[in-house]
Amino acid sequence: MIRDPQRHRPYGVAVIGGGPAGSATALTLCRLGVPDVLLVEAQDYQAVRLGESIPPETRQLLESLGVWRAFLSEGHEPALGSCSAWGSDEMGYNDFLYNPHGHGWHLDRRRFDAFLARTAAAAGAVVFLHTRCRAIESQGKQGFRIRLEGVEGPTEIQARFIVDATGSTARLARSLGAVRRCHDRLSYVAAFFNRTRDAFSRLTWLEAVEYGWWYSAMLPAGRVAVAVAGDSDSLKTKALHQPESWRLWLNRTRHLAGHLADCEQATESLYVRTAASFVLDRPSGPNWLAVGDAASAYDPISSQGIYKSLLEGLEAGHAIADGLSGKSRKLERYATSVADRFADYLRLRNHLYDLEQRWPRAPFWARRQARRSV
Ligand SMILES: Cc1cc2nc3c(=O)[nH]c(=O)nc-3n(C[C@H](O)[C@H](O)[C@H](O)COP(=O)(O)OP(=O)(O)OC[C@H]3O[C@@H](n4cnc5c(N)ncnc54)[C@H](O)[C@@H]3O)c2cc1C
Repeated sequence: MIRDPQRHRPYGVAVIGGGPAGSATALTLCRLGVPDVLLVEAQDYQAVRLGESIPPETRQLLESLGVWRAFLSEGHEPALGSCSAWGSDEMGYNDFLYNPHGHGWHLDRRRFDAFLARTAAAAGAVVFLHTRCRAIESQGKQGFRIRLEGVEGPTEIQARFIVDATGSTARLARSLGAVRRCHDRLSYVAAFFNRTRDAFSRLTWLEAVEYGWWYSAMLPAGRVAVAVAGDSDSLKTKALHQPESWRLWLNRTRHLAGHLADCEQATESLYVRTAASFVLDRPSGPNWLAVGDAASAYDPISSQGIYKSLLEGLEAGHAIADGLSGKSRKLERYATSVADRFADYLRLRNHLYDLEQRWPRAPFWARRQARRSV
């Protein structure tokens, strides 16, 4: 056990998880003058991170976080809207021309997440990278004892308040007794392509198929993200986890195959993820709260996950700052606002899946439409 009195001093707030939600929470706390904020991240932002499309409204949140100008200089790719073959064989278009916030963005996720963590550090947060939280133990009014494991080995720290920003594993909240109420679980298989020509659509492309949907988005540095989402059983039946079959089924799509005809797959590697839709039965409790995907996770089709994580980071930061100064109203409101937002999301998601009626007997669509009254 290594003890460095500077690094291992007691913290006011320990934020566990340096994705968009954790970094936005740490940054907000620092901007509000909360002392001794710690941000703990298991990785170093080098590994592939999926999830890249953010809507135009995200601009307001980046402005509220005080990072909008700096974000603009990070070189992410403008997203001008979307086009989709959904509910019909024909493509429909929905561009951001009339959106008062302008266009959206296709992010380089590693760069975006690293940028937010760096900004939190510059605002005063202590940031531990390559450090995983292994366990927490409540010490009543004193807060929590937190067991960490980093490159220097295991260590323990104390914090008055703890934030679970570990993403959809909600690892800490669940260890404190919160339960995930799960509404759906998608399997997602993605790959990256390189563009071979400069002129390429800046729209997000979406195409429904009998076994789920395909998606593509233009990324910075000449890259394109391409993915298929479906139920794990039907993706397995079609061997969509294997590069040759994945490519074969992509080539059979009506629109996306042609759209990607001039692109070359960057590597053979496929990235397989689970994307669950769930909300915690309680996203906060004495001296803790969960934020971002740890509190509730949305279907990637909504393209709202990152927006929601930044929004909740801002809300959580304000609520914790208030709570630490003896006021509890914002902390109490926080839980209601997570639940209300999830109910709104479910309504929109159900409406979207209801719009596709071409394959009423296909298990993927039948399952989603059977859940529309949830
Ligand atoms: C396949 C897929 C595609 C998606 N596409 C989109 C999209 O296009 N647009 C969109 O807005 N959203 C999308 N989403 C959702 C979006 O990625 C999430 O909503 C968003 O990343 C949530 O941010 P977060 O900070 O809550 O969690 P995460 O981004 O998951 O970050 C959690 C962080 O915690 C760290 N961590 C985990 N456990 C520990 C631990 N024990 N100790 C220390 N650190 C830990 C992880 O390393 C990670 O950095 C997608 C999701 C999936 C699964």
